[in-house]
Amino acid sequence: MIVDTNRIESLLERTHAPSTGDIKKILSKAEEAGGITLEETATLLNATGEADRALIRAAASEVKTKVFGKRVVLFAPLYLTNYCTNGCIYCGFRSSNTGVERKALTTEEIISEARSLEEKGFKRLLLVLGEDSRWPLSYIKDAVRAIYANTGIRIVHVNAPPMDTEELRELKSAGVGLFQVFQETYHRPTYEEVHPTGKKRDYDYRISVMDRALTAGFGDVGIGSLLGLYDWRFEVLATVAHSYHLYERFSAHAHTISIPRLKPATGSLMEDRTFTVTDDDMEQIVSIYRLSVPSAGVVATTRESAELRARLIECGASQVSAASRTDPGGYNPKDGAKEETLKQFTTSDERSLDEVMASIAKSGHIPSLCTACYRVGRVGEEFTQITTSGEMGHFCGANAILTLKEYLLDGRANGTAPVFNGSIDDALSEVKNEAVKEELKKKFKELKDGKRDIYF
Ligand code: SAM
Ligand code: SF4
Repeated sequence: MIVDTNRIESLLERTHAPSTGDIKKILSKAEEAGGITLEETATLLNATGEADRALIRAAASEVKTKVFGKRVVLFAPLYLTNYCTNGCIYCGFRSSNTGVERKALTTEEIISEARSLEEKGFKRLLLVLGEDSRWPLSYIKDAVRAIYANTGIRIVHVNAPPMDTEELRELKSAGVGLFQVFQETYHRPTYEEVHPTGKKRDYDYRISVMDRALTAGFGDVGIGSLLGLYDWRFEVLATVAHSYHLYERFSAHAHTISIPRLKPATGSLMEDRTFTVTDDDMEQIVSIYRLSVPSAGVVATTRESAELRARLIECGASQVSAASRTDPGGYNPKDGAKEETLKQFTTSDERSLDEVMASIAKSGHIPSLCTACYRVGRVGEEFTQITTSGEMGHFCGANAILTLKEYLLDGRANGTAPVFNGSIDDALSEVKNEAVKEELKKKFKELKDGKRDIYF
């Protein structure tokens, strides 16, 4: 069994109402950045007092810095099609929603979307699509190949419906970095309720997809649950258990854990069935993922407001999207095309990439456009090992500075250059190893001389 949900329930019951002493004991172990047990995770999930929650956030912030340094990685989603044969009641793309205009991008349109994102400065994209056999694996592979062949995008990730092992092998061979699928809810009765029709009804086929992806040669997989469908404490513990299962079987944790929270969507049938997840809960969720799976990238998307995303970065979120559109073709809207009738759900943070990067820099973190690990094969088991041994922060810091320098030299900063120059100076002053400092200066010169895509 990949996730034993009876055990999840009994752990949450057994650890109910922990004392501050219980929490402090777990945090002193968690601060070593080596992870904690499922039972300890359940105990932290049951912390309700603000003082205890503040201790958890502080520990998570420390672990984030220990593991990845101060860098926060940026990416953008690229929606390929909004056709879908599933009936997920929370999603604007569900098959019976007549309020959405259907669109599938052509290869030319995919290239032009990717180019628009590249012009803003993005190097990392996540392709997203619904489930419809008219837009099969070959369509996704062609999209990936077209983006690599025609743009400067350096890594393409995919959030697509679950596939068989052979199909995943093919997808990997097209050059995809990370394969992402959210279980939505690990609670079987809720899963059945919110997925009334279509292939997605099959809970077991979905939950087993990451085992197939890692078997098929993917080093990096992304998981998550759609917060608001069921009790968030149950979902978070089950998501952590999912990552622990992958580690036990493949020696690699989930590379990313996302925290999508239910948003209003045209034609959504959720109405008042949503389980509440407050902004404070979101902070606790991010903190607990950071402490339980320290090596994971915790991903906060533009579903959340600028203000909350800043708070989530403080307690351990390490990857954020920016300037996102959830309608296919949204980065190059044609005359008459209306975002409202094409999009999957409503976003809350409408700032440009430059604005998001500047606010990250102003808060003392380093915005990073790095894609180095995928290029040099630091993925899967090796990534988990390097990260848990505390070595990754050196790579991340140096690569963040290099990508920021490149961003400035390419003239992407819009009046924000002084902020980024300040970030680079601060980050450089924190590099203690003289040899690395010298190497960085050499690489800066190469960038100034026109060389690009330089990394450690
Ligand atoms: N169609 C594929 C699938 O369902 O796995 C992949 C992409 S789907 C477009 C991406 C994710 O969006 C879903 O896995 C779900 O978690 C999330 N999502 C769907 N409806 C949402 C809503 N109303 N608010 C927030 N996130 C939503
Ligand atoms: Fe389709 Fe995915 Fe939306 Fe479900 S969540 S309706 S599978 S696009």
